[in-house]
Amino acid sequence: MGFDADAVRRDFPGLDLQVHGRPLVYLDNAATTHKPKVVLDEYQRVYLEENANVHRGIHTLSQLATEDYEKARRTVARFLNAATDDEIVFLRGTTEAINLVAWTFGRERLVKGTNVVISGLEHHSNIVPWQLVTDLTGAELKVVPLDEHGDVTIEAFEATVDANTAMISVAHISNALGTILPVKEICQIANSRNIPVLLDGAQGMSHDHPDVQALGCDFYVFSGHKVFAPTGIGALWGKMQHLEAMPPWHGGGEMIETVTFEGSTYAAPPARFEAGTPNFAGAIALGRALEYLESLDEDAMVAHEADLLAYGTRRLEEIEGLRIIGTAPHKSCVLSFVIDGIHPHDIGAVLDQQGIAVRVGHHCAQPVMAHFGLPATTRASLSMYNTRADIDALVEGLKTVKMLFS
Ligand code: PMP
Repeated sequence: MGFDADAVRRDFPGLDLQVHGRPLVYLDNAATTHKPKVVLDEYQRVYLEENANVHRGIHTLSQLATEDYEKARRTVARFLNAATDDEIVFLRGTTEAINLVAWTFGRERLVKGTNVVISGLEHHSNIVPWQLVTDLTGAELKVVPLDEHGDVTIEAFEATVDANTAMISVAHISNALGTILPVKEICQIANSRNIPVLLDGAQGMSHDHPDVQALGCDFYVFSGHKVFAPTGIGALWGKMQHLEAMPPWHGGGEMIETVTFEGSTYAAPPARFEAGTPNFAGAIALGRALEYLESLDEDAMVAHEADLLAYGTRRLEEIEGLRIIGTAPHKSCVLSFVIDGIHPHDIGAVLDQQGIAVRVGHHCAQPVMAHFGLPATTRASLSMYNTRADIDALVEGLKTVKMLFS
């Protein structure tokens, strides 16, 4: 089939925008991706053709919406290779999913004397929920240190996990640096010691198609908006044996079996964890986004992204005084960098004037910045619809930055 990035671009109307009179060069995909027209159309279609609350009505519209909502669950399950559809819980996104696991599964296990292991490159949303829970229970938070490349080695991981480790929660791919963690090996070690593993798939979902059974993890969580779907929707995959044993987190409609003033009983998963009216339009659009991704030639897409990373790295290294931050051997297409004597915010502002969207700051990963002794970096994060021309535009933009600030 091959991969034609220019053809893929035509599916994404948002990429045709002009910013400050210049064609948009969108290099902020780790923050959020653009949405293909088929996803936008699907989102609108739901409200136009079957707007009704799911799981509640006997009327036709409610049945249509419910059917499509459950079809989206099947699509997510297929994409992740879940054992059953009921292992998929629709939530707001990665942050909510990690909090759910921390406050149910984690809170029960992380008693005093135990620890939860995370890595040094986690997003704040895979740090703070564990701090909240361990502060409450007296368990310890242990961190696998990063090496000078911003990598998490298996040796460092093994040296951190100990006999008291009750839970491991690590990123599949780092948003700040692009490092792809050795998640399969991490899961193997964890499995051999019977320690459950959560993988934060916010970045992994769009760059390293996860197969949760092959990976051997216990939970995998992601956000729709980083995988070409709308904001406000994402999912948690969990092994059914865990979900069944987990207490509810949010209480409300839909998550119950019976309610009396004396007490309530709870529905089986996934309903137990989907209290209240779900974002069914978002979930249906998410299903459509994953179908769209499935329609592309995955191997060719991976090769295209690898080419962008190699080309981008080479071109950026041509710029005097520029240093790439995060040089792990296994990386997805994130180019985080600093330029001697120029503040990242100045870089970002000048690039924006040229229609080039990058992210500057700590990327919600302040400990990663601390590891490199930096307050911030500039980050160009690429997606399958980016091209070498986008990288050339970035390099030209950076030349203007250098001209203005040196
Ligand atoms: N983890 C990682 C690795 C991320 O990149 C992000 C988003 N930048 C999150 C977690 C949080 O995702 P969300 O804000 O969509 O919940």
